[in-house]
Amino acid sequence: MFVDCIVPLPLEGVFTYNVPAHLSQKVQVGCRVNVPFGQKKQYAALVTRVHDEQPACQTKDILAVLDEERMLLPNQLKLWQWVAEYYMCTLGEVYKAAIPSGLKEKDGVVRYRPRTVDCVRLAGEYFDGYKLNSALAAMKSTPKQQLLMIRYIELTGVNAALTVGNANILKEITREELLKAVGCSSSVLKAVCERGLLEEYEKTVDRIPTASIPASLILQPLSDAQQTAMLQIKDVWREKDVCLLHGVTSSGKTEIYIHLINEVLAQGKQVLYMLPEIVLTSQLTERLRKVFGDRLGVYHSRYTDAERVEVYRKQISDTPYDIIVGVRSSVLLPFHNLGMVIIDEEHETSFKQTEPAPRYHARNVALVMARMSGTKTLLGTATPSLESYSNAVAGKYGYVSLTTRFGNVCMPEIEVVDIAELKRKKLMNGPFSPVLLREIRQALERNEQVILFQNRRGFAPVVECHVCGWTPQCPHCDVSLTFHKRSNSLTCHYCGFSTSVAQRCPQCDADRLSSKGYGTERIEDVLASIFPDAKVARMDLDTTRSRSAYEGIIKGFQRGDTDILIGTQMVTKGLDFRRVSVVGILNASTMLNQPDFRSYERAYQMMTQVAGRAGRSSAGTGQNVRPGRVILQVHDAKQPTVMQVVRGDFEGMFRTQMEERRLFMYPPLCRLVYVYIKHKDEIVLEHLAEELAALLRQVFGHRVLGPDMPPIARVQTMYIRKVCLKLELTANMAEARRRLHEIQKYMTSKPEYKSAVMYYDVD
Ligand code: ADP
Ligand code: ZN
Ligand code: ZN
Repeated sequence: MFVDCIVPLPLEGVFTYNVPAHLSQKVQVGCRVNVPFGQKKQYAALVTRVHDEQPACQTKDILAVLDEERMLLPNQLKLWQWVAEYYMCTLGEVYKAAIPSGLKEKDGVVRYRPRTVDCVRLAGEYFDGYKLNSALAAMKSTPKQQLLMIRYIELTGVNAALTVGNANILKEITREELLKAVGCSSSVLKAVCERGLLEEYEKTVDRIPTASIPASLILQPLSDAQQTAMLQIKDVWREKDVCLLHGVTSSGKTEIYIHLINEVLAQGKQVLYMLPEIVLTSQLTERLRKVFGDRLGVYHSRYTDAERVEVYRKQISDTPYDIIVGVRSSVLLPFHNLGMVIIDEEHETSFKQTEPAPRYHARNVALVMARMSGTKTLLGTATPSLESYSNAVAGKYGYVSLTTRFGNVCMPEIEVVDIAELKRKKLMNGPFSPVLLREIRQALERNEQVILFQNRRGFAPVVECHVCGWTPQCPHCDVSLTFHKRSNSLTCHYCGFSTSVAQRCPQCDADRLSSKGYGTERIEDVLASIFPDAKVARMDLDTTRSRSAYEGIIKGFQRGDTDILIGTQMVTKGLDFRRVSVVGILNASTMLNQPDFRSYERAYQMMTQVAGRAGRSSAGTGQNVRPGRVILQVHDAKQPTVMQVVRGDFEGMFRTQMEERRLFMYPPLCRLVYVYIKHKDEIVLEHLAEELAALLRQVFGHRVLGPDMPPIARVQTMYIRKVCLKLELTANMAEARRRLHEIQKYMTSKPEYKSAVMYYDVD
């Protein structure tokens, strides 16, 4: 007897193993088996087929059967196959993404212990950039130990923690996770601990609470507008599989979801409710828990591996959660009996995974999953993606809109401020226009809250020598370093490289280095000098490395401990704060000037979403309903996208953007495949890129563009080139993929290109 298995490696296809007689009773499709691989490696492989076809070549024996139950449902495997095919990656890569690593370990009994787990942390005295760097340098003669330290630093966010000078935001990592990530034996870790750099400790883990929280199933009555929308959605579903719910911010979409979920549960079916990571806050889960109790499971990427293993196991068991609220990877979970899929904030780009493979778009995968299981999907958003909206216009999706906010709360008033002109007249106070300062002051006087949005973290994005114009660059990537004042360091936002700030210019030795531009840190400083009594919090990647830090900032703001919240795009997302009356967008131009064909669409979405945080409700404050105020600072007040945001003219934005996409052939009017190649040697890469593009042109002709340099042409010492392939919507994708794979095989078989890395990004 033989089994075909998926091995958690980026290798094509399935692998066949022999099943020794004593294991043949235990093995079944969907269970995991321990298999030998290569010289000494072992993996937990997933069985996809059990058969008696003698393969052509010699097969090894499986070593053990790890599960008595299956870990993979047939419909799940079908979806994985679709993902691997569509996004041009291997089944092994999908397996790796779908299954928490605790379930891929080789010895079967999942190695996490339920109550305590061995963790590793940085010894306190090494929480010091200088000391840590010297210690790393001193490890040169023991490269394995050095590698372990480097991986530790990357995985736990040491650079970021040093940057903000807060060791508490280091991500906790288990001993297992670290050893696995490094791929070394425990003796290496032991040696590093003996050097005093790391220390081991035991952590008690909070398990997902098993005590039952009863489902109250008490729903808020819907308003008339909500009721109508819900009926319309159900009407749409009689004819179409997908419905787009286009409802302005705070129109009460979430409440409609709750009612729909309730109906699906009543039919004994399951619901998948997907959200982008930053929207999945305890604010939302608490709201859902109140209604659905512990029938609700949460799948968050910030959860520990052990927690995710538990959710996975529960989903495959006979008593799964009825509702999963989760981030993009939750679409790869097992569902026995799916009854509805909700994708909230469907326009969010974070549904797309960029690194590593599978580079999938969770919205699209969810749509396919729903279709495969014959269920309906609801896409909800205040700012639809052009993809979804054009599907609605074409009649492929149904369309339902909600144009008023719940409880007759007004939409916020948006005022555009031309900061280019104010700068010329020297009327700007740092990043603030006089209007914005006045609005902030008035809000503070009225005891209301303010959100300020700046899409750049750190203190200043650029440091520059006044004499010769030199700016510090990341030695590993093709970007300039961002100045972080709190830690007095320069940091690369791509690879995490960090260095101290030089006193003199290394190029001309002048001592006149100055910082340009405003990051969130600097805005915090300016604000403190203008409003010394205001309580200010900052929410960006640097202050939210851990789940608790992130939740802490949100809760503090919700309780009113904070008056002003400064943040990057994290503050634009689905948060529901009731006392926010003023929102300031400090510089919209940086969003509009991104080198990406989606930048206007995204800028529109971001501005509209962040504006939507203003004046959401007066409930509970006992005040009259007054519309929220949004101050939108921009370099060019006549810029069409800005004007569309002000008018709330989604239609207009859609039309102008579609026109551009048609003109330059971009999605959703074509399929876009980026072929990326990476190599350590830039010259070799140039040759490879040219040759590859020429070969692609032979097959795809004028549909091939490039090669060119992506905006960041070098990351972590690998040079990158990109070839772009634009295919007609009617193109035979399976055929195109086959040709691409052939070309890849041919290119990488050449000895001179052996160490090149090649991968695809679809759509
Ligand atoms: P959206 O998801 O469209 O941004 P929400 O569902 O978060 O909007 O609703 C906005 C606010 O209105 C929330 O504070 C919510 O509690 C309240 N709300 C919405 N619908 C109802 C309802 N039917 N009854 C009571 N409150 C509601
Ligand atoms: Zn200089
Ligand atoms: Zn870098």
